[in-house]
Amino acid sequence: MGRTHPRTPEPLEKLEQRELTILQLIHSGANNSRLELAKLADLSPSSITAIVQRLIKKGIVVESEPAASQLGRRPIPLQVRKDAAYLLGVDLGSFFLRIVITDINGEIVFRSQARTDMKVGRQRVLEKTFLSIHQAIRESNIPQKLIKGIGIGHSGVIDSEAGIVLSYPRPGQMEEWRNVPLREIFEKEFSLPCLLEDSVRTSTVAEKCFGSAKDLSDFLYIDVGMGIGAGIFLDGKIYRGAGGRAGEFGHITVNEDGPLCSCGNTGCLETLASSAAIIQAVRAAIEKGIDSKIRGLIEGDLDKVSIELIAQAASEDDSLAYRVLQRAASYIGIGLANLVNLLNPKVVIFGGALFREIPQLIADPLRRIIKQRSLEKSANEVQLLVSTLGGEASALGAARMIAERIIQDLYLHWTSQSIDATSNPGLKPTKGRATARVVAEDNVAAL
Ligand SMILES: [Zn+2]
Repeated sequence: MGRTHPRTPEPLEKLEQRELTILQLIHSGANNSRLELAKLADLSPSSITAIVQRLIKKGIVVESEPAASQLGRRPIPLQVRKDAAYLLGVDLGSFFLRIVITDINGEIVFRSQARTDMKVGRQRVLEKTFLSIHQAIRESNIPQKLIKGIGIGHSGVIDSEAGIVLSYPRPGQMEEWRNVPLREIFEKEFSLPCLLEDSVRTSTVAEKCFGSAKDLSDFLYIDVGMGIGAGIFLDGKIYRGAGGRAGEFGHITVNEDGPLCSCGNTGCLETLASSAAIIQAVRAAIEKGIDSKIRGLIEGDLDKVSIELIAQAASEDDSLAYRVLQRAASYIGIGLANLVNLLNPKVVIFGGALFREIPQLIADPLRRIIKQRSLEKSANEVQLLVSTLGGEASALGAARMIAERIIQDLYLHWTSQSIDATSNPGLKPTKGRATARVVAEDNVAAL
C-alpha cells in the first residue's frame, strides 16, 4: 500500500496527528462506531468518516460485525486490525512468572506460567524468565517481527519512568533487587521497546480495559498478595502522585503498636493482612501446637503453608484458618474505610490470591466494616467487587500498557509503508531471530 498523500491544504503533521488521535481512540474503546468517535473527538461525522476511511485504506483499522439491534441501521464498530502487532506481557511475581502474548487489542493468543523461586537470586531468576519468554515466543508461532514490545509488571517498588526496580521489600531479596535497571536489561535481551511498571498498576489497567472497570473513569483496585497495594484510577487515568509512588496502601498504619514493617514503620497494613502475614500467623500458631486441619495438609512441613491451603481449611470450617483470615480482613477493612472516606470511590475491585480463593469469606467482613467505619453516604455508595481476571491480570495489563505506548510508532511505521523496522527509530531492529519464525512470511508481507 502506498503512502496516502493528503490533497487538503492541511499540513501533513496535523493530519497525521488527527489520524493518530482517532487511531488511539479506536484502540482505547471497545468497538466504537464512527458516530461515537465523532462525539469523543469533538469532530464532525464527515471529518471522522474521512479519517477512518484513510486508516482503513492504510490497513490499520478494520470494520467489525455490528451488534444485533432492533433499531434500523446499525452502527459499524471499528477496531485496530488485530494482527497489526503483538505484545508480550510479563508478570514477575513473588510466586509466579506469568507470561501472555496478546494481539494489539489485548486478546490473549498465548499464555504460560512457571513458579518463581526468588531464593535462587536475581541473576538466576532473570535467566529463567528470559528462557521462558523466548520459549513463549517460539511456541506462540507469532512471527517475531510482529512482536513489538514487552510490558513488565514487577511487585517491588518501581520507578516506572526510569524503568528501575528501586527495591523489593521481601525477606532475603532487599539487596538483590535494589536499584535494578530492569527495563534496560530486558531491552538488551530482546531488542524491543520495553516498559516496567508496578504490578498493582498493570492489574489496575487490566481491570480498566478488560475487567469490571471497563465503563468507569474512577475506581480503586486493591491487591492483596505478598504485599498490599492500591491502584488509584481517577478521571480516566492512573493517579501516580508527585514522585510516582501513590498507592502504597500496604504501608498505611492500622495498628500503632503492630509489628515492624520492611519500610521501617510499625503496624503497617501489610504486616497484618498480606498473604505473607497470614501465612506467618498460621505457621506461628501451628508451631505453638494449636490444633488445625492445616497441620494434616502440610504433612509436618511448615514451608508448605500457603494461602491456597489456608483458604481450603477455612472453607472446611477450620477455626484457626477462619480466625486468622477474619483478623486480616478486619485490618484491610479499617484501611479501606479510610480510603472510602478520603476518595469516595464508586467501585473498589479486589484482586490477589486471597480473593481468588475465598472471595466471600473476605469480602463479607469488609462490607460490614465499611458500613461501621465509613461515612454513611460513602459506605452506601461504594460497590465492592472481586476481580474476574484471575492470576494473569498483571501480565495482561502490562501488555496493554506497552500496546498503548507503541501505537504511535506503529502508526508511523504503517504510514511510512516500510516493513523494515530499522528505518523506524521507535521500532528497534530484532537481531538474529529469523530462524525462529514459524508462521508464513506471507502474513508479514501483507502488513
Ligand atoms: Zn510499611
